[in-house]
Amino acid sequence: VALMADKPDGAGAVKAAPRIIAVGSGKGGVGKSTVSANLAVALSRAGCKAGLVDADIYGPSQARLLGTEGQRPVAHDNRLVPVASRWGVPVLSMAHLSDPGQAIAWRGPMASGALTQLLEGHWDDAEVLVVDLPPGTGDIQLTMLQKFKPAGAVIVSTPQDLALIDAARAAELFEKGGVPVIGMVENMAGYVCPHCGETSDPFGSGGAEACAQTMGADFLGRIPLDIAIRRESDAGTPTAAGEGPQADAFAALARKVAD
Ligand code: ADP
Repeated sequence: VALMADKPDGAGAVKAAPRIIAVGSGKGGVGKSTVSANLAVALSRAGCKAGLVDADIYGPSQARLLGTEGQRPVAHDNRLVPVASRWGVPVLSMAHLSDPGQAIAWRGPMASGALTQLLEGHWDDAEVLVVDLPPGTGDIQLTMLQKFKPAGAVIVSTPQDLALIDAARAAELFEKGGVPVIGMVENMAGYVCPHCGETSDPFGSGGAEACAQTMGADFLGRIPLDIAIRRESDAGTPTAAGEGPQADAFAALARKVAD
Protein backbone atom coordinates (compact mmCIF):
# COMPACT_ATOMS: atom_id res chain seq x y z
CA VAL A 1 0.00 0.00 0.00
CA ALA A 2 1.46 3.34 -1.00
CA LEU A 3 1.34 5.55 2.06
CA MET A 4 1.01 8.98 0.49
CA ALA A 5 -1.97 10.46 -1.32
CA ASP A 6 -2.21 13.94 -2.73
CA LYS A 7 -5.28 16.04 -2.45
CA PRO A 8 -5.72 19.64 -3.43
CA ASP A 9 -6.22 21.99 -0.47
CA GLY A 10 -8.37 25.13 -0.49
CA ALA A 11 -5.59 27.31 -1.89
CA GLY A 12 -5.15 25.09 -4.92
CA ALA A 13 -1.76 23.80 -3.78
CA VAL A 14 -1.25 20.06 -3.49
CA LYS A 15 -1.30 18.92 0.12
CA ALA A 16 -0.51 15.48 1.46
CA ALA A 17 -3.38 13.64 3.15
CA PRO A 18 -2.65 10.77 5.48
CA ARG A 19 -3.47 7.31 4.24
CA ILE A 20 -5.54 5.37 6.75
CA ILE A 21 -4.49 1.88 7.76
CA ALA A 22 -7.25 0.31 9.86
CA VAL A 23 -6.25 -2.39 12.34
CA GLY A 24 -9.12 -4.71 13.16
CA SER A 25 -9.84 -8.02 14.84
CA GLY A 26 -12.79 -10.33 15.33
CA LYS A 27 -12.33 -10.67 19.07
CA GLY A 28 -11.06 -8.45 21.86
CA GLY A 29 -7.92 -9.28 23.80
CA VAL A 30 -6.02 -10.65 20.82
CA GLY A 31 -3.47 -7.81 20.90
CA LYS A 32 -4.93 -5.49 18.27
CA SER A 33 -4.09 -2.35 20.27
CA THR A 34 -0.60 -3.62 21.02
CA VAL A 35 0.00 -4.37 17.34
CA SER A 36 -1.45 -0.97 16.30
CA ALA A 37 0.82 0.99 18.65
CA ASN A 38 3.91 -0.97 17.67
CA LEU A 39 3.08 -0.78 13.97
CA ALA A 40 2.82 3.02 14.22
CA VAL A 41 6.12 3.25 16.13
CA ALA A 42 7.86 0.89 13.69
CA LEU A 43 6.58 2.93 10.71
CA SER A 44 7.88 6.09 12.35
CA ARG A 45 11.27 4.46 13.01
CA ALA A 46 11.40 3.50 9.34
CA GLY A 47 11.09 7.18 8.43
CA CYS A 48 7.37 7.36 7.71
CA LYS A 49 5.40 10.11 9.45
CA ALA A 50 2.85 8.00 11.29
CA GLY A 51 0.00 9.05 13.56
CA LEU A 52 -2.20 6.84 15.72
CA VAL A 53 -5.97 7.14 16.24
CA ASP A 54 -7.54 5.08 18.98
CA ALA A 55 -10.96 4.27 17.55
CA ASP A 56 -11.65 1.86 20.40
CA ILE A 57 -14.00 4.47 21.86
CA TYR A 58 -15.35 2.29 24.69
CA GLY A 59 -12.05 0.70 25.69
CA PRO A 60 -9.28 3.14 24.75
CA SER A 61 -5.77 1.95 25.55
CA GLN A 62 -3.44 3.94 23.30
CA ALA A 63 -2.73 6.67 25.89
CA ARG A 64 -1.30 3.96 28.14
CA LEU A 65 0.54 2.15 25.34
CA LEU A 66 2.31 5.30 24.10
CA GLY A 67 2.86 6.74 27.58
CA THR A 68 0.65 9.81 27.04
CA GLU A 69 -1.79 9.27 29.92
CA GLY A 70 -2.98 12.46 31.59
CA GLN A 71 -2.30 14.63 28.55
CA ARG A 72 -5.20 16.58 27.10
CA PRO A 73 -5.31 17.61 23.44
CA VAL A 74 -6.03 21.27 22.74
CA ALA A 75 -8.45 22.31 20.01
CA HIS A 76 -7.44 24.64 17.23
CA ASP A 77 -10.02 25.90 14.73
CA ASN A 78 -12.48 23.47 16.32
CA ARG A 79 -10.24 20.51 15.50
CA LEU A 80 -8.22 18.50 18.00
CA VAL A 81 -4.45 18.78 17.94
CA PRO A 82 -2.91 15.29 18.37
CA VAL A 83 -0.98 14.63 21.57
CA ALA A 84 2.78 14.20 21.03
CA SER A 85 4.36 11.00 22.35
CA ARG A 86 8.03 10.25 23.05
CA TRP A 87 8.11 7.84 20.12
CA GLY A 88 7.61 10.29 17.26
CA VAL A 89 4.00 9.18 16.89
CA PRO A 90 1.27 11.72 17.70
CA VAL A 91 -1.90 10.13 19.06
CA LEU A 92 -5.56 10.88 19.73
CA SER A 93 -7.66 8.68 21.96
CA MET A 94 -10.85 8.96 24.01
CA ALA A 95 -8.51 8.30 26.92
CA HIS A 96 -7.19 11.85 26.37
CA LEU A 97 -10.73 13.25 26.53
CA SER A 98 -12.16 11.31 29.47
CA ASP A 99 -11.13 10.68 33.06
CA PRO A 100 -9.37 7.41 33.93
CA GLY A 101 -11.90 4.74 34.81
CA GLN A 102 -14.81 6.85 33.54
CA ALA A 103 -17.35 4.65 31.74
CA ILE A 104 -18.12 5.75 28.20
CA ALA A 105 -21.74 4.63 27.80
CA TRP A 106 -22.74 6.00 24.43
CA ARG A 107 -25.05 4.77 21.77
CA GLY A 108 -23.72 4.28 18.25
CA PRO A 109 -24.24 7.80 16.88
CA MET A 110 -22.32 9.42 19.73
CA ALA A 111 -19.49 6.96 19.45
CA SER A 112 -19.35 7.60 15.72
CA GLY A 113 -19.31 11.35 16.45
CA ALA A 114 -16.32 10.84 18.75
CA LEU A 115 -14.55 8.81 16.06
CA THR A 116 -15.11 11.67 13.61
CA GLN A 117 -13.54 14.16 16.05
CA LEU A 118 -10.47 11.97 16.47
CA LEU A 119 -10.04 11.38 12.73
CA GLU A 120 -10.70 14.98 11.77
CA GLY A 121 -7.97 16.24 14.10
CA HIS A 122 -4.95 18.14 12.77
CA TRP A 123 -3.35 15.20 11.01
CA ASP A 124 -2.04 17.21 8.09
CA ASP A 125 1.61 16.38 8.88
CA ALA A 126 1.02 12.63 8.97
CA GLU A 127 1.66 10.44 5.93
CA VAL A 128 -0.12 7.46 7.42
CA LEU A 129 -2.70 7.13 10.18
CA VAL A 130 -2.86 3.81 11.98
CA VAL A 131 -6.40 3.39 13.33
CA ASP A 132 -6.91 0.96 16.19
CA LEU A 133 -10.52 -0.21 15.76
CA PRO A 134 -12.71 -1.84 18.40
CA PRO A 135 -13.09 -5.61 17.96
CA GLY A 136 -15.89 -6.96 15.80
CA THR A 137 -18.10 -5.45 13.14
CA GLY A 138 -20.20 -2.64 14.64
CA ASP A 139 -21.06 1.06 14.31
CA ILE A 140 -17.48 2.31 14.51
CA GLN A 141 -16.38 0.00 11.70
CA LEU A 142 -19.28 1.11 9.54
CA THR A 143 -18.56 4.81 10.13
CA MET A 144 -14.94 4.13 9.35
CA LEU A 145 -15.82 2.45 6.06
CA GLN A 146 -18.42 4.98 4.98
CA LYS A 147 -16.82 8.23 6.08
CA PHE A 148 -13.06 7.71 6.19
CA LYS A 149 -12.45 4.92 3.74
CA PRO A 150 -9.16 3.30 4.81
CA ALA A 151 -6.51 2.58 2.19
CA GLY A 152 -6.19 -0.89 3.66
CA ALA A 153 -6.89 -3.06 6.68
CA VAL A 154 -4.64 -5.21 8.84
CA ILE A 155 -6.38 -8.02 10.73
CA VAL A 156 -4.93 -9.30 14.01
CA SER A 157 -5.74 -12.75 15.35
CA THR A 158 -4.41 -15.30 17.79
CA PRO A 159 -3.81 -18.82 16.44
CA GLN A 160 -7.03 -20.25 17.96
CA ASP A 161 -9.82 -21.41 15.69
CA LEU A 162 -12.51 -19.30 17.34
CA ALA A 163 -10.50 -16.11 17.03
CA LEU A 164 -9.69 -16.97 13.42
CA ILE A 165 -13.34 -17.50 12.48
CA ASP A 166 -14.19 -14.03 13.83
CA ALA A 167 -11.10 -12.56 12.20
CA ALA A 168 -12.35 -13.84 8.85
CA ARG A 169 -15.68 -12.10 9.53
CA ALA A 170 -13.89 -8.82 10.25
CA ALA A 171 -11.87 -9.20 7.06
CA GLU A 172 -15.01 -9.84 5.04
CA LEU A 173 -16.59 -6.61 6.30
CA PHE A 174 -13.65 -4.61 4.94
CA GLU A 175 -13.66 -6.43 1.63
CA LYS A 176 -17.41 -5.82 1.26
CA GLY A 177 -16.83 -2.15 2.03
CA GLY A 178 -14.25 -1.94 -0.74
CA VAL A 179 -11.26 -1.75 1.61
CA PRO A 180 -8.46 -4.13 0.64
CA VAL A 181 -7.22 -6.40 3.40
CA ILE A 182 -3.45 -5.85 3.45
CA GLY A 183 -3.05 -9.04 5.41
CA MET A 184 -3.22 -10.88 8.65
CA VAL A 185 -0.93 -10.81 11.70
CA GLU A 186 -0.76 -13.77 14.06
CA ASN A 187 -0.25 -12.47 17.58
CA MET A 188 0.54 -14.52 20.70
CA ALA A 189 1.92 -17.12 18.32
CA GLY A 190 4.15 -19.27 20.48
CA TYR A 191 5.39 -18.48 23.96
CA VAL A 192 8.82 -17.04 24.68
CA CYS A 193 10.29 -18.58 27.84
CA PRO A 194 11.44 -15.68 30.05
CA HIS A 195 14.26 -17.87 31.42
CA CYS A 196 15.87 -19.39 28.34
CA GLY A 197 14.29 -17.28 25.55
CA GLU A 198 13.18 -20.36 23.62
CA THR A 199 9.82 -20.20 21.82
CA SER A 200 7.31 -23.04 22.25
CA ASP A 201 3.85 -23.43 20.72
CA PRO A 202 1.30 -24.30 23.43
CA PHE A 203 -1.60 -23.12 21.23
CA GLY A 204 -0.20 -24.45 17.98
CA SER A 205 0.87 -22.08 15.27
CA GLY A 206 0.31 -21.41 11.61
CA GLY A 207 -3.48 -21.06 11.92
CA ALA A 208 -3.54 -17.42 10.88
CA GLU A 209 -1.27 -18.12 7.94
CA ALA A 210 -3.63 -20.84 6.71
CA CYS A 211 -6.63 -18.58 7.36
CA ALA A 212 -5.00 -15.74 5.39
CA GLN A 213 -4.42 -18.14 2.53
CA THR A 214 -8.07 -19.22 2.55
CA MET A 215 -9.14 -15.57 2.45
CA GLY A 216 -6.68 -14.80 -0.32
CA ALA A 217 -4.93 -12.27 1.96
CA ASP A 218 -1.22 -11.94 2.69
CA PHE A 219 0.26 -13.29 5.88
CA LEU A 220 2.14 -10.41 7.52
CA GLY A 221 3.97 -12.26 10.24
CA ARG A 222 3.95 -13.73 13.69
CA ILE A 223 4.45 -11.99 17.05
CA PRO A 224 5.03 -14.41 19.92
CA LEU A 225 3.51 -14.19 23.39
CA ASP A 226 6.35 -12.56 25.25
CA ILE A 227 6.09 -11.25 28.79
CA ALA A 228 8.42 -8.41 27.78
CA ILE A 229 5.81 -7.14 25.29
CA ARG A 230 3.15 -7.09 28.02
CA ARG A 231 5.50 -5.36 30.45
CA GLU A 232 6.66 -2.76 27.94
CA SER A 233 3.09 -2.11 26.81
CA ASP A 234 1.95 -1.47 30.38
CA ALA A 235 4.93 0.84 30.93
CA GLY A 236 4.12 2.94 27.86
CA THR A 237 7.41 2.06 26.17
CA PRO A 238 6.44 0.24 22.97
CA THR A 239 8.51 -2.82 22.14
CA ALA A 240 9.01 -1.54 18.59
CA ALA A 241 10.94 1.45 19.97
CA GLY A 242 13.57 -0.87 21.52
CA GLU A 243 15.95 -3.52 20.23
CA GLY A 244 15.68 -7.30 19.94
CA PRO A 245 13.76 -9.98 18.08
CA GLN A 246 10.26 -8.62 18.85
CA ALA A 247 11.24 -5.08 17.81
CA ASP A 248 12.57 -6.66 14.59
CA ALA A 249 9.26 -8.50 14.11
CA PHE A 250 7.33 -5.21 14.33
CA ALA A 251 9.82 -3.56 11.95
CA ALA A 252 9.25 -6.39 9.45
CA LEU A 253 5.48 -5.93 9.84
CA ALA A 254 5.83 -2.19 9.16
CA ARG A 255 7.86 -2.90 6.00
CA LYS A 256 5.16 -5.23 4.69
CA VAL A 257 2.38 -2.75 5.47
CA ALA A 258 4.28 0.12 3.84
CA ASP A 259 5.10 -1.87 0.68
P1 ADP B 1 -6.96 -5.98 22.03
O1 ADP B 1 -6.65 -4.61 21.53
O2 ADP B 1 -7.09 -6.99 20.93
O3 ADP B 1 -8.11 -6.02 22.98
P2 ADP B 1 -4.55 -5.68 23.63
O4 ADP B 1 -3.57 -5.14 22.66
O5 ADP B 1 -5.17 -4.73 24.60
O6 ADP B 1 -5.69 -6.49 22.86
O7 ADP B 1 -3.83 -6.88 24.38
C1 ADP B 1 -4.47 -7.60 25.44
C2 ADP B 1 -3.43 -7.92 26.52
O8 ADP B 1 -2.47 -8.82 25.98
C3 ADP B 1 -2.64 -6.71 27.01
O9 ADP B 1 -2.39 -6.88 28.38
C4 ADP B 1 -1.34 -6.79 26.20
O10 ADP B 1 -0.25 -6.19 26.90
C5 ADP B 1 -1.15 -8.28 26.06
N1 ADP B 1 -0.46 -8.65 24.83
C6 ADP B 1 -0.81 -8.38 23.55
N2 ADP B 1 0.04 -8.95 22.69
C7 ADP B 1 0.99 -9.59 23.42
C8 ADP B 1 2.16 -10.36 23.11
N3 ADP B 1 2.51 -10.61 21.86
N4 ADP B 1 2.88 -10.84 24.15
C9 ADP B 1 2.50 -10.60 25.43
N5 ADP B 1 1.42 -9.91 25.79
C10 ADP B 1 0.66 -9.40 24.80
